[in-house]
Amino acid sequence: MNGRLVTAWAAAQSKRELMTLSYRSPPLRPMDVEIQVTHCGLCSSDLHLIDGHWGDASVYPQVCGHEVIGHVSALGENVAGLSLGQRVGVGWYRSACLGCEFCLRGEEQHCPCLIATCTHGERGGLADYMHCDSRFVFPIPTTLSSEHAAPLLCAGVTVYTALRRATWPGMAVGIVGIGGLGHLAVQFAAKRGCRVTALSSSPHKERDARTLGANRFVDLSNPVECKQVRNALDYILVTSSVTCDWTAIVDMLRPFGTLCFAGMPPPVTFDIASMMYKTLSITTANVGGRQDILDTLDFAATREVRPWVQSWPMEDVNQAIRQLRNGRVRYRAVVHVGDVQSQPQ
Ligand SMILES: [Zn+2]
Ligand SMILES: [Zn+2]
Repeated sequence: MNGRLVTAWAAAQSKRELMTLSYRSPPLRPMDVEIQVTHCGLCSSDLHLIDGHWGDASVYPQVCGHEVIGHVSALGENVAGLSLGQRVGVGWYRSACLGCEFCLRGEEQHCPCLIATCTHGERGGLADYMHCDSRFVFPIPTTLSSEHAAPLLCAGVTVYTALRRATWPGMAVGIVGIGGLGHLAVQFAAKRGCRVTALSSSPHKERDARTLGANRFVDLSNPVECKQVRNALDYILVTSSVTCDWTAIVDMLRPFGTLCFAGMPPPVTFDIASMMYKTLSITTANVGGRQDILDTLDFAATREVRPWVQSWPMEDVNQAIRQLRNGRVRYRAVVHVGDVQSQPQ
């Protein structure tokens, strides 16, 4: 039997605008569900895939979208725990082996057999329908609207997982960059009880940072302000992808402090001696495992962490992408299919 006729938005070649693409979905495998997509967040990783920055991860026509919300519209014969019509989400990956050392630890994101949602020819959520392994499909808490839930599936879980593993109440936490990742990181850190310093070279974002929960704002373009937070922070999460004065950032850490990268700036050089002097650590953030996604959704739902979202109809996805490329989105872009409600459902 032929599969459903799917309409997606795809980049035909590197750096091109998206165009509609129609294809027949493959037969539904026993553990898969079909999802009727209602919302899909846009992430900077989607831009890298559209532009072909990650080599053979992009396969054209490239269908992006890995912050997907929709309703289960068909169930494979062996699917358990999900029902038709249920509202669900899909994040960065769509499948893993579930038997390797990383999967058994709940760190499926490091599975050597990981299949990402929209790389290497897999077609993501910028479409009216998609298939996904049911074990990588997550129920959405009823108190979260779909447009709020979508960005939590990649941006949210990335920063929440990093913060949860390394911070605790009362800790002095710095968040570099108030953008798609940073505005969520400030909220998560504040709701975890940390004392949050927002660090940004855009002083006009101070009001937003404080509204999001920051106790203090430091203008990174002002050396005097930077010096005022020397040796003041236990943990700094870098969420921006632009370069900055890393020496000044490292100076802000207290002994045994940690600098964690969730954004992807250009290559960075550090003075090891000055890091050694304070026994500092450098680490990175990843998207987290399946339980991390569930925990992120639960924490956001119960502690009222809400992405600040700008939304566009799916047919205006190129407009949304242009805004994202220009850094004009405040602070996550979500496209929606048709005339869907954005209220909790
Ligand atoms: Zn992403
Ligand atoms: Zn595995």
